[in-house]
Amino acid sequence: MRNESLYRKLAQLAVRRGVNVQPDQPLVVRADVRDHRFVEMVAEEAYKAGAKSVDVRWRDQKITKLDYLNQSEETLADIGEWLHEREQAVHDQKGCYLSVLSDRPGALKDVPANKIRAYQKAYHEKMGDLQAYTANNFGQWCVLGVASKEWAQVVFPELDEEEAFRKLEEVLFDVSGVSEDNDPVEWWKDHDAQLIRHAEKMTAFNFRELHFRNGLGTDLHVPLTENHIWVGGGCTTPAGVYFDPNIPTEEVFCMPHRDKTEGTVVSSRPLSYNGVLIENFTLVFKEGKVVEYHAEKNEEALGTLLGFDEGSSHLGEVALVPHESKISQSGVLFYNTLYDENASCHLALGRCYPENIEGGIEMSEEELLSKGGNTSLQHEDFMFGTADMDIDGITYDGNVIPVFRSGSFVID
Ligand code: ZN
Ligand code: ZN
Repeated sequence: MRNESLYRKLAQLAVRRGVNVQPDQPLVVRADVRDHRFVEMVAEEAYKAGAKSVDVRWRDQKITKLDYLNQSEETLADIGEWLHEREQAVHDQKGCYLSVLSDRPGALKDVPANKIRAYQKAYHEKMGDLQAYTANNFGQWCVLGVASKEWAQVVFPELDEEEAFRKLEEVLFDVSGVSEDNDPVEWWKDHDAQLIRHAEKMTAFNFRELHFRNGLGTDLHVPLTENHIWVGGGCTTPAGVYFDPNIPTEEVFCMPHRDKTEGTVVSSRPLSYNGVLIENFTLVFKEGKVVEYHAEKNEEALGTLLGFDEGSSHLGEVALVPHESKISQSGVLFYNTLYDENASCHLALGRCYPENIEGGIEMSEEELLSKGGNTSLQHEDFMFGTADMDIDGITYDGNVIPVFRSGSFVID
């Protein structure tokens, strides 16, 4: 295996910092069969760290597509009770979850949208009560990516297969903080400290709202919930285990009030939704709801996303990412939200993160909703940050404080 030592470091990072597997804790890994060699390393590292068990849930992206194309909507929507029981058992044992991404973006574009929607809706309905386990950080979880030839061809279409793959490998290691001459676990400690500092400053300002403007045409007022908390870097479980859910992460994020956003936002990067790329789109908000939308490409998919459920046409997250982040500087469009969201300021349509409001983790869905939280079953990030993004924070007594100028923080 080429780059064996870098993959080994990434596996160690995933286990020790990403999910931070604890002695006698079960680990569930979700991965595509193409990444079996990396997953073996993860399993080795997890057992070294004292994992009780490593349960790998293998997928094959091509078979997933065949399933969608050949199964009826009814079959796709028939989610077995055993799936719920299996996940419940992991939660009962306080397990942790690692997802390894390497899929080809856009691979499901030939699948009728109604089929994907039927499956996802049924899946969320069946498994919805289990989402809190990871959404509220009751147990550790982590998502990271490894390069694949299929993915690399989409990212670097001008290069031949092998060159594209090597280039994607190189970029992914770099943005994940893994290099031949560093200790990625230590690198991540410093990186997180910087994010936490920005988050603490933003929380201390206690802004009533943020006002975003740029040359693309974004002019958006995003009021925040009362008693909001800005979050950046890693998370801590109720048992006190620190972990990094996203490798990489460059964002500090907060909870917009579900019913108060006003104005226009223009996307700055394509959004990959159900394997379809939605490009150059504009959303107009009134009283927190998208009342108008337009996309140059795949507008229908955008309509599906917005119509998913009651909350999916309202915001659930606002995140700030400086334009000088490693991912932004790479100039690469990954066609994958885990990376692309870290290149740019972003918003999420759908579910909020309860950790973004005081006492949120303990709140019922009804309480969260009454405080302005979003309880959609979906959470879709889209990018709208640019190098010329200006952001003002407006306090409760009307003071206007510059937060971003020309795409970067100015609160230091
Ligand atoms: Zn985010
Ligand atoms: Zn998000």
